[in-house]
Amino acid sequence: MGNPRASNPPSATDDGIGPDPVVPEQAIICAKCGQSNPPQEVKCIQCKKDLLPGLDAGQRACLFGCSTVVGIASLAAAVVIFMNKVEVDGKGMIYLAGLVIFGFLVFSVGAGYAVRKVPLHERYAQRAECHVEINPIQAIADYGSASKDAPRAITLVNLTKRAALCQKIGRSSEARSSWQQALEILTFQIEKLKLPDPELLIQRAELYRNLGLTDEATLEMLRYTIEKEASFKFKQDEIAMGVSEGWQKGTEDQARGELQKVRAELLMDKQYRIVGDCKQCRKTVALDQNLRCTNNLKHHQIRQIRAEKRS
Ligand SMILES: [Zn+2]
Ligand SMILES: [Zn+2]
Repeated sequence: MGNPRASNPPSATDDGIGPDPVVPEQAIICAKCGQSNPPQEVKCIQCKKDLLPGLDAGQRACLFGCSTVVGIASLAAAVVIFMNKVEVDGKGMIYLAGLVIFGFLVFSVGAGYAVRKVPLHERYAQRAECHVEINPIQAIADYGSASKDAPRAITLVNLTKRAALCQKIGRSSEARSSWQQALEILTFQIEKLKLPDPELLIQRAELYRNLGLTDEATLEMLRYTIEKEASFKFKQDEIAMGVSEGWQKGTEDQARGELQKVRAELLMDKQYRIVGDCKQCRKTVALDQNLRCTNNLKHHQIRQIRAEKRS
């Protein structure tokens, strides 16, 4: 008992391409003494430390202590400012109230975290992170456990990490299965929203790509560029008034340029195109990489912009 596990002999990958990278046999490495424990162990066989800890007493005390100090310091600062009769006008009073609220918030959040029971999925995810380099098989198992009974957004992250790790060590079919599960969760999240969230679309494009679904990946990426641009406050040819609005327009124009570049690259493949309903042409028209009507670049009333595969 207690000897570090030997490496597995490499075997063929499940997609049949090349040998597996050499990975150590599954084991839980104790964070305290470094002992290699069989995966079913709950406590370290050498030092008896809990192998699936949440926060230990020291971390809880530190969290409570730090949040208390920051909370008291904020309140003290507010009192000192008030007592010294520094010119406190209406705006100043708002800042003072903000300082007091900040102090209470830091204290209550810190204290809350210090006493809470750490959910199982968080403990598995934490242990997985620690094993990514030293024992990827254990990390894969832990990311799998962390994906059960967790909020959807967290499950999505854990499944994606699990898939990447499986792929890295040559377990392609397990990677696919995790990406597939992640895709189902993400699709559910996207469909639940009234307005599309571009950041979720780009994540889904990545999952499609990982699953080898090229058409879906390309169309989703195009859709991302369209929705992202639609979320900008200023239109391309709009003039912004004022300093902060001008700054925002400048930032958006730069981002728009990047999106147009991505779009142009994707549209090099002539299988795909972007169309929209042009009010001036009174029909569905093909759009260019800048989402302009190709019949007349000055037409600007274009609705229902969408990407599609040419039939
Ligand atoms: Zn130990
Ligand atoms: Zn037109």
